[in-house]
Parts: sequence; structure tokens; C-alpha cells
Amino acid sequence: MKFATKAIHAGVHPDESTGAIMTPIYQTSTYVQDGVGNHKGYEYSRTLNPTRHALEKNIAAIENGNFGACFGSGLAAIDCVIKMLNPGDEVISTNDLYGGSYRLFKTIFEKYGIKFHFVDMQHPASVESHVNAHTKLIWVETPTNPMMNIIDIEAMASIAKKAGALLCVDNTFATPYLQNPLDLGADIVMHSVTKYLGGHSDVVMGALVCNDEEIAKEMYRIQNSTGAVTAPMDSFLVLRGIKTLHLRVQRHCENGEKLANFLVNHPKIEKVYWPGFTTHPNHDVARKQMRGYGGMISFTMKGNRLEDALEVVKKVEIFALAESLGGVESLIGHPATMTHASIPKEVREKTGVVDSLIRLSVGIEDADDLIADLTQALG
Ligand SMILES: *Cc1c(COP(=O)(O)O)cnc(C)c1O
Repeated sequence: MKFATKAIHAGVHPDESTGAIMTPIYQTSTYVQDGVGNHKGYEYSRTLNPTRHALEKNIAAIENGNFGACFGSGLAAIDCVIKMLNPGDEVISTNDLYGGSYRLFKTIFEKYGIKFHFVDMQHPASVESHVNAHTKLIWVETPTNPMMNIIDIEAMASIAKKAGALLCVDNTFATPYLQNPLDLGADIVMHSVTKYLGGHSDVVMGALVCNDEEIAKEMYRIQNSTGAVTAPMDSFLVLRGIKTLHLRVQRHCENGEKLANFLVNHPKIEKVYWPGFTTHPNHDVARKQMRGYGGMISFTMKGNRLEDALEVVKKVEIFALAESLGGVESLIGHPATMTHASIPKEVREKTGVVDSLIRLSVGIEDADDLIADLTQALG
């Protein structure tokens, strides 16, 4: 089956008892048994719930994987992957990682004896130079946030294979419609479902997908043992969201391209970060592993003045000033004072998060209105 058909049909079946075409919200914690151990596949909703089960099968299908698991947030999904490791194990990850992932690795898991290396993954050699006998996981995020760097997933897969380590890719920014890491050699794909998969800024959720049965056993064992599962109502909302994922992402890509081209020609803009430009430093890798370039764009302003950037994010009327991304509505953010405020200025500036950097999550409104809004905000 092709993507659009899977997005709508995978994992879901009309309800046998009523014929309801939509998966019911099974708002139940437990399930009656005919005799001890004689049940219909569901015993207790932390372990498995029918609404969540349908969603897990659906997300696995759109990522071309065999096994899916949903969690109470993206970070809870990442937490599950790190719990597959043991004290003494080492992880190699990117130096411009999502801030919440960085905080989880550094402030929670380091004290349990897991060591993390943060390197510039745009250069596979710098990843290879950190591999040793303790390397058990390579953690990739691509495109990265907010600089839109692209990391070569196939190159990371070959390093991981040689090292005997797992490769996990945070595919939140790209979405399964544009990029399928399992097909490129990754062992596990992770999503903050909160973003594009949910797509309507009304749910916080995470997911993991894998193909290997042994990894899946560990994933489900940890999911059930630690209990960071997602609720039936939220599972229903995301099943509904995914039915339009392909249509939404197509429009995110179209609008993203229009806005990137508008910004690059604007006299007040210094630099635009968007992987669709042939001048983007990793455009060739993006073209190889992605089917489109998405609606996430960052840009800096001429003069690099903090006041100018704060003025723009204040003056926009359609764009909403908010954290998060991936919803149908357009959002604008100022990384230096919002998502990256806790990082010292010298450190954040090294990765490109300067005072005038602005990040857009381009929604699926009419592109002309979005361009008009940015035009008036840029003055
Ligand atoms: C938001 C986000 C996360 C964390 O997901 P939550 O659902 O907020 O816990 C992880 N990675 C990336 C790239 C994200 O954008």
C-alpha cells in the first residue's frame, strides 16, 4: 500500500459489535475475562488498550516498520530508548540536539552511568572518532532544530553497524511522509507525535517504531514496566490527525518553499536556513534522503539586533508567537530567548543561534496571507 492509503486505513477496522467506521475511544482501564487468562488480547490498559493499539499499528505502517509503541510524550519515547542501555554504555548524538532531549540525557541519564558525546554529525568522521567499545547507541535528529542541518542517515547507519550500536533517528521534523529512517538503515524511529503527526496542536504524545523483534520486545517491556503510556482519547485524536498527514505535509512543503523564497529576497533578511535551497550546505543529503523539504524555516536579520527580531515576533498577526511546531496554524519563535534561553550566549552562537535568529513553523493557511503578514511585521 502507498502512503496515503496506509495513513487512512492501516491499523483501523470498523468496530465488530456496532459497525462504527471510526475506532472507538476505549475509555477503560481493564477488560473482563471469561476464565483466568482467557481474554480477547487486552488485560489492562497500561499494557495495551484497543484505541492505542490501532494507533501503534498505524504509526508503524506509515514508518514502514513492524512494531509501534506510543507514549505520553516525545520525551517519554526517548526515555524508553535510553532505558534499553546499561550503566557504562556510551551514546553519540548531535551538538544541536532538541533541548529537551539534551536535558534528559545530561541531567537524568548521566547520573545512572550512561555517557553522552555531542558531536557535529554533518561530518561522519567526527562521529567515527568518538566510537569505542562502549558505544551502544547513535542518536540522530535530522533536520536539526533550529538550524535545519541535515545529517546523512545512511552514513550514520553504516557507522552504527560497524560499531555494533543501535541507530535511532528522531524523525519529528521530517515526518514519515518525507523521510523513512528504517528504510535508510536505522533500527528505531522516534517521533514527537505532538508535532506533525497529531498536527492540530491539541495532543502531547510520543512514538517509537522498529522492525527487529528483539528490539520490539525490549520496547514493549519498558513501555509496560515504566508506564508512560498515552491515553485512549489522545490516541483517537492522533488517528484522526494522521488521516490527513500527507495532505497537510504537502501544503507545509509548498508554503515553506514560498516563504523561504520570499524571505531570501527580502532586503532586511541576512540568511535563510531551509534545506530546499541548492545553496544549503547539506542540500545533496536532503535530496537523497527526503521527498520534500518541509515547512520549518529559520532566518537571521541584517545587523543581527535583538530588538529587531523581538519587534518582528511581536508584530506578526497570523503567525502566533509560541513554542512547538507542526500544527496547521503558523507559529513563530525566537530561539535565543525561548527554546535556547538556558544555553550561554557564546555556546548557542557557535551553533548559529544568534540574537536575530527567528524560527517559523509554516502552517497550511494561504501562503499569500502569510507573506503579507511577514511583510508588515518586517516593516
Ligand atoms: C518536541 C520535540 C521533542 C519532544 O517531544 P514532546 O512531545 O514535547 O515530549 C523531541 N524531539 C523534537 C525534534 C521535538 O521537536
